Amino acid sequence: MAEVLVLVDHVDGDVRKSTAELLTAAARLGEPSAVFVGAGAQEAAEFLGRYGAAKVYAVESAEVTDHLVAPVAEVLASLVEKTSPAAVLLPASNDGREIGARLALKTSSGLITDAVDVTPADGGVQTVQSVFAGSYTVTSVVTQGSPVITLKPNSVPVAEAQGAATVEALEAQVSDAAKSARITERKEKAASGRPSLTEAAIVVSGGRGTAGDFSPVEAFADSLGAAVGASRAAVDAGWYPHSAQVGQTGVSVSPQLYVAAGISGAIQHRAGMQTSKTIVAVNKDAEAPIFELVDYGVVGDLFAVLPQATQEIQARKG
Ligand SMILES: Cc1cc2nc3c(=O)[nH]c(=O)nc-3n(C[C@H](O)[C@H](O)[C@H](O)COP(=O)(O)OP(=O)(O)OC[C@H]3O[C@@H](n4cnc5c(N)ncnc54)[C@H](O)[C@@H]3O)c2cc1C
Repeated sequence: MAEVLVLVDHVDGDVRKSTAELLTAAARLGEPSAVFVGAGAQEAAEFLGRYGAAKVYAVESAEVTDHLVAPVAEVLASLVEKTSPAAVLLPASNDGREIGARLALKTSSGLITDAVDVTPADGGVQTVQSVFAGSYTVTSVVTQGSPVITLKPNSVPVAEAQGAATVEALEAQVSDAAKSARITERKEKAASGRPSLTEAAIVVSGGRGTAGDFSPVEAFADSLGAAVGASRAAVDAGWYPHSAQVGQTGVSVSPQLYVAAGISGAIQHRAGMQTSKTIVAVNKDAEAPIFELVDYGVVGDLFAVLPQATQEIQARKG
């Protein structure tokens, strides 16, 4: 069975859930092999094996880890040459997309970004993308090289597999060109205690309707263990950090539940959240465009609705 390479997304060895999703998807296409860049591959092998990785290629060289993404693309390109994988799967993060683009170019392979599904197809791999703010579904088959695919988080339900991964150290050969940007400092952001926006199963976002007071949005999010997002109007007004912006020019999220509070539903906002499994909106304007795409809509003032919902959830949690 052909290998399927999966780039492991981790922070200091702490593997993100999206990697379990990538491995689950990879197992549909062939034998998943994880590619782990940085320290901690041995410790992560148990987790990676649990989600189907038979092998973990471990790359720990500073030649790779002390630079931006270009060396990772070179490492993957050398593995593609060595293993002729059925596909290479990467997280649909900023880094994942850039590495994917570089890798596809280096290996003359077709590239699909932001896929929401991956299945084997006759002689290749079929992907599904949700485009134009979720109004079209595109099904594609890569016809050249080893398909390079970035997969959106929360698109594939994870499945555990039997088996253990063996770790294989990999010597990285990195060109000087790939090392032209060096990382000089890494600083951890102060933890909010909330899950990360791109990975959260539930996202509660606030818009201009909050009038700058995100406290009901945050309290409701915390009652659900959710991440907090924001519309561009809220971010541009300085009410919430830019990193929380959901939409075309912000973060793309695809949680199980998305709650939009005081957000009108502009096309650019939809572009970043329309693939969410269940969408709920709270808006005091019954004519707001967001209501065209919701599963459940509450016409009301968020300052009245969200605190009641928060209270009810807390009461039910006991
Ligand atoms: C190139 C480009 C890229 C863009 N990228 C993005 C992007 O990535 N993300 C993004 O979000 N936008 C983006 N935008 C902006 C987008 O077009 C909208 O301007 C923006 O999404 C509007 O934000 P909003 O819904 O919070 O505000 P508004 O459109 O002003 O809507 C506020 C809503 O809140 C409701 N409301 C008011 N008070 C309350 C209350 N007390 N309770 C309940 N409801 C209330 C109102 O009825 C209204 O529907 C982009 C625009 C451009 C041109």
